Amino acid sequence: MRALADRRDIAPSRDQDAGDHRSVAVVGAGITGLVAAYELRRRGVNVTLYEASGHAGGAIRTSRTDGFLAEHGPNSFVTSAPVEALITQLDLEDDVVEANPSANRRYIVRDGLLRAFPTTPPAMLTTRLFSLRAKLRVLLEPLVRRRATDGDESIASFVRRRLGPEVLDYAVDPFVSAIFAGDPETLSMVHAFPRLFELEQQHGSLSAGLMATRGRKPAAAASTDDTTDETSDEGALPETAPTRARLISFVDGMQTLTAALEASLAGTLRLGCPVRLLHRDEGRWVVEAGQDGGARARTVDAVVMATPAHVLAAMELPAAMRKHAALVERVEYPPVSTLTLGFERADVAHALDGFGMLIPAKEKRSILGALFSSSLFPERAPDGHVAITCFVGGARMPERAREDTDLLVERVLMDLRQLIGVRGEPVFAKHVYWPRAIPQYTVGYQAVKNAVDETELANPGLYLGGNYRNGVSVGDCVASGQQIAQRVASYLTRAG
Ligand SMILES: Cc1cc2nc3c(=O)[nH]c(=O)nc-3n(C[C@H](O)[C@H](O)[C@H](O)COP(=O)(O)OP(=O)(O)OC[C@H]3O[C@@H](n4cnc5c(N)ncnc54)[C@H](O)[C@@H]3O)c2cc1C
Repeated sequence: MRALADRRDIAPSRDQDAGDHRSVAVVGAGITGLVAAYELRRRGVNVTLYEASGHAGGAIRTSRTDGFLAEHGPNSFVTSAPVEALITQLDLEDDVVEANPSANRRYIVRDGLLRAFPTTPPAMLTTRLFSLRAKLRVLLEPLVRRRATDGDESIASFVRRRLGPEVLDYAVDPFVSAIFAGDPETLSMVHAFPRLFELEQQHGSLSAGLMATRGRKPAAAASTDDTTDETSDEGALPETAPTRARLISFVDGMQTLTAALEASLAGTLRLGCPVRLLHRDEGRWVVEAGQDGGARARTVDAVVMATPAHVLAAMELPAAMRKHAALVERVEYPPVSTLTLGFERADVAHALDGFGMLIPAKEKRSILGALFSSSLFPERAPDGHVAITCFVGGARMPERAREDTDLLVERVLMDLRQLIGVRGEPVFAKHVYWPRAIPQYTVGYQAVKNAVDETELANPGLYLGGNYRNGVSVGDCVASGQQIAQRVASYLTRAG
């Protein structure tokens, strides 16, 4: 890597010569970076958005082949006021598709059988997903004393303590797999599910907390489970009336959102242009970006880093950032493979009448979960066919995610045959491997968050965002991009 001092062979760009003000470099064109760049541009800031790969969108990518639509990353997301505002601004209302109402039915596999997850008290009483003992244990939850300390605790420890081991194994574990591809024994309750953690802290029990907060508007979006009508502490997000949270995608898939953002950023996006170096120069920032041999330097007033956490480690950074970057780059991102399979309808016995099935670790299957994609949204499969999207790997079975496509299809098919009665062979298969899929908010994650905060404090004009900071869902990332843009805009105004 080139020494910081040796900058002579880097050609200055015209922007640098012009010495323009209120210019910002956004690094990483995933949803966080796209939204941050979009919001800054709306505020009249001169933005350059650098993306290392050849396409924008990051984890959000859709392909359609032979009438089958495959989501490479997220399949759907829950809206909030900031998301709805963005959809309106981008004129995407007519492209939105809400999940089929049957999506409320989520199957959990127990002893090889699909059981609908109970969502009402009567359903909880009659469900065969939990034993009588587990149901009684849930009824005792209000009597379980609050934990004495408010320190960090694993999700598994929290749930075992409050609701018992069966609820951990057959309710929480599969949902943790679905959101984080993670392990409840290592993920932090405080950081992964802050609102549930706070219910215990503030109300003594989850039951009391849920009763007390029923119908109340949550205060702020902190993480993946906090889908709220939040407004930022810095105040200038679009004012929007409280909205009903909707589970949505788009007619042509999730990429519609990132493609619309990309189109609105015409002229500012530099694809295939990895940022390799950042350094501070007389109160401004020098960003060096581009492929080997073609790197260019540009001086800007502020930088938004919207890359995965580990990217910081591979970059040449100012000394004030390096010690924090070393901590941030330790955030774990286990691998995940997504496998979208298409079948003739007659070859699947199950009604596929729901969101999909989640598979607890106890069941010892290859699949973490499978979405019934063509039941969830229209036009995911040609007439007479169905599409099922399966997730493999994650924190507990990383080696499975790395298997080649043939072996993966074989393993997944074995599960699908036994669980939902698949016969015959798939007529379509799309395999996408994510070597580093989703950041794990493990116990002790506060140290990472502190390092991020301290990095920003020590480096005026530098902002860090992305799914390792304020929640992993697409909605969290949209909110995060909007908030960062707002903070950058305030900084630029203050810096004058
Ligand atoms: C398989 C999978 C399924 C998911 N399912 C769901 C779901 O159903 N619902 C949901 O809400 N969320 C889901 N998520 C989570 C959600 O999609 C992600 O958390 C979110 O899209 C991450 O966005 P981001 O912008 O923070 O990061 P990313 O999408 O990772 O974008 C970061 C960008 O930075 C670029 N970059 C890296 N290094 C550099 C550099 N040096 N210079 C310039 N650019 C660089 C990368 O190429 C990338 O484009 C899923 C994620 C995965 C992987």
